[in-house]
Amino acid sequence: MSTIKKIGVFTSGGDAPGMNACVRAVVRTGIYSGVEMVGIQQGYQGMIDKKFIKMDARSVCHIIQLGGTILKTARCLDFKTKEGRAFAYKNIKEAGIDALVAIGGDGTFTGAELLSREFDIPVIGVPGTIDNDLYGTDFTLGYDTATNTVIDAIDKIRDTAASHDRLFFVEVMGRDSGCIALQAGIAGGAEAILLPEKDTAIEDLISKLEAGAGSNKTSSIVIIAEGEKNGGAYNVAKRVKEKFNFYDVKVTILGHLQRGGSPTSFDRVLGSRFGYAAVNALLAGENRKMVGLVSNKIQLTDIQESITNHSTKLEEDLLEMSHILAI
Ligand code: ADP
Repeated sequence: MSTIKKIGVFTSGGDAPGMNACVRAVVRTGIYSGVEMVGIQQGYQGMIDKKFIKMDARSVCHIIQLGGTILKTARCLDFKTKEGRAFAYKNIKEAGIDALVAIGGDGTFTGAELLSREFDIPVIGVPGTIDNDLYGTDFTLGYDTATNTVIDAIDKIRDTAASHDRLFFVEVMGRDSGCIALQAGIAGGAEAILLPEKDTAIEDLISKLEAGAGSNKTSSIVIIAEGEKNGGAYNVAKRVKEKFNFYDVKVTILGHLQRGGSPTSFDRVLGSRFGYAAVNALLAGENRKMVGLVSNKIQLTDIQESITNHSTKLEEDLLEMSHILAI
């Protein structure tokens, strides 16, 4: 029998589609198990500002299809100090919360790990970020929706690129991870994909574009991950243009639209599975673990490991395939 009577759930750092599905699952799994549930608004900032709201099964009606996060999210500098975390913990205790579900990325997990260790409060993390950059899960929450949003944009850009015989450089999010770029690049039929994990010489890119132009390609799309080493889409476009003027060159930075939108069925189910598993893990006595999906099975990883092994999931064979399919 678990001693946990009240669980707090919060979303923190960058928002990601599917967070609401996860909040819904956390709240309903907790209520089903006889635990009181509290939503903490605006992540760690809400702990400091005492933004605690009691939640019941009806508090999370009609949110599974919504992007963003109904609990709001924030970045909180105070929480990076021990005093800030002590103040947050005092407020959490006063609210009667005795365990936490933290939905966010590696920054959120770093904060959660520290809070849990310093004040002995159980925490389970849910990987919620479009970047797909956490160790211990094949997919992070929001990644699938974000890649589908990018594909939708690439398809539209393809129409205009083909009509005008243009070369488009499309910059996508992912921080230091190329997952979104690679996935969306393959799915969108990009001619080239530039990733943070793999240095690409501009000369090689130009050779590739020249080969395409020489084999009757009348337009091309190059996907640039924001963390790519040549300095982003504008820089790459400028350098390519200096030496290669076969096409009219345009740049599109997709930006924050990649964060929004209704989650795909995959992210809704993933968020539901993660939320359900997170509460059950807490009630089973687990602490400082991240729930993840590995080979379609829920798996727990030490939260510290998920941060320190913060690795990219670049699959070299997919990159190789993308080169071949883009000839
Ligand atoms: P994400 O969780 O998406 O990676 P951030 O890196 O912005 O987003 O982290 C979210 C929040 O987690 C920060 O605003 C801060 O409150 C907390 N956090 C991040 N790094 C640390 C740290 N080193 N120590 C304590 N708290 C941290």
